[in-house]
Amino acid sequence: MTRVVVVGAGIAGLTVAHDLARDPDLDVLVLEGAPRVGGKLLTAEVGGVSVDVGAEAMLARRPEGVALARELGLPVVHPATTSSRLWLGGELRPLPRSVLGVPVDLDQLAASGVLTPAGLNRVRAEPSLPPTELAGDVSVAELVGSRLGAEVVDRLVEPLLGGVYAGHARALSARATVPQVVSMLDRGSLVEAAAALPVTDTPVFAGIEGGVGRLPLALAEGLTVRTGATVRELRRRAEGGFELVVGSAAAPELIAADRVVLATPAAPTARLLADLAPTAAAELAAVEYASMAIVTLAFRAADAALLGTDVSGFLVPPVEGRTIKASTFSFAKWDWVRAAGGDVAVLRTSLGRHREEAVLQAADDELVTASLADLKAATGLAATPVASQVQRWGGGLPQYAVGHLDKVARIRTAIAEVPGLAVCGAAYDGVGIPAVIASAHRAAAEVGQAE
Ligand SMILES: Cc1cc2nc3c(=O)[nH]c(=O)nc-3n(C[C@H](O)[C@H](O)[C@H](O)COP(=O)(O)OP(=O)(O)OC[C@H]3O[C@@H](n4cnc5c(N)ncnc54)[C@H](O)[C@@H]3O)c2cc1C
Repeated sequence: MTRVVVVGAGIAGLTVAHDLARDPDLDVLVLEGAPRVGGKLLTAEVGGVSVDVGAEAMLARRPEGVALARELGLPVVHPATTSSRLWLGGELRPLPRSVLGVPVDLDQLAASGVLTPAGLNRVRAEPSLPPTELAGDVSVAELVGSRLGAEVVDRLVEPLLGGVYAGHARALSARATVPQVVSMLDRGSLVEAAAALPVTDTPVFAGIEGGVGRLPLALAEGLTVRTGATVRELRRRAEGGFELVVGSAAAPELIAADRVVLATPAAPTARLLADLAPTAAAELAAVEYASMAIVTLAFRAADAALLGTDVSGFLVPPVEGRTIKASTFSFAKWDWVRAAGGDVAVLRTSLGRHREEAVLQAADDELVTASLADLKAATGLAATPVASQVQRWGGGLPQYAVGHLDKVARIRTAIAEVPGLAVCGAAYDGVGIPAVIASAHRAAAEVGQAE
């Protein structure tokens, strides 16, 4: 039997192991440092309702997440409402339809009141600008700002990127984070390209009844996973294959493997690759992460009734200067959350953007208080919650800086020089669940074929 060790039991590591476990000639072991599996996918009980306190939705327009959930027999659901708001100038305004901030319908944009008349004129003038020739990579702000103006960046792009990457448009790579917008440049005008996109009824997002946190648990059921097993070192064995060092320095345990997949965030992956693939290690060590917190609040349903059930939540642009960056009205967005809650309505806020960790240095009860103050100011919801929970995600989301795609190509070239080794996870090809699953399928195919 060929022994494969997968390091990390987030969605990436568990998917790799699930793929490889189909091969009867492979003996697959997953080593996870934390006491539980799932990484950033986690459910917790708040006010008697079990809800996601990490990732809570997945793109449905990419197949990988929905396909894996269905394969595992999990009930895939879609949001009951996708109507969202933008908290701007002290008012909740309709979030105009857009492709990652590039407006799709200029009349709807105008009616939303999100841009000033000057900002709107700038957008309307975009089709007459000469085409942008993008040779290398640029930041999202540079790309979108140069065509549509700074207001679109500050008021539309920033809140959307803040939600997905917890990052900033001025630092994130256009090619890695908004490839759709980059490809729209081929048409000359972003506004015209966005307006020409076909309107479809296909839901953009999906979830899982009971929470996307069920996905890693279902995956782990059929696998051999050791939790509480932090891998501290990875080295080659003289006789071939690898040796992993697990456990404390005082009592190290050595585990042999023919092949290894590192499905860990960039920093631990860099440490583990320091000797085996120093070039890849140096590239990975330079990937920065944003930390975040999710504050889940359970209200009496009667108190939360003033929020209605038509709106799934709101985003907050950084220029608004608030503490929270978004709120998701989970009870309105997901029928299963409303049904499970009964007379309790659960919603959540998220806090924390890249290099703004100061906001997270407050104690849990202060994050709850700040969330309640922002919610009250935005929506008028002034009731005291019946329960609250703060989930911190230190190093939650990798930041794809300008040049990220080239960096990943260099990392993969360096890793390919070590036969039997592969990497996957959110640090490489996208941070969303389907993209992470795709990177795991790729890593499984790589080590599954290694000689
Ligand atoms: C708050 C938050 C909300 C999000 N919301 C969404 C969303 O709604 N939709 C979406 O698509 N995406 C969302 N994301 C992104 C998505 O959840 C993550 O990108 C994805 O889950 C990462 O999976 P992963 O397996 O690559 O990494 P992780 O989940 O980080 O898993 C890596 C695992 O490796 C383990 N590990 C690390 N070092 C070692 C070691 N030395 N030895 C052994 N084990 C180790 C860790 O303990 C961890 O369990 C969100 C992320 C966060 C933080």
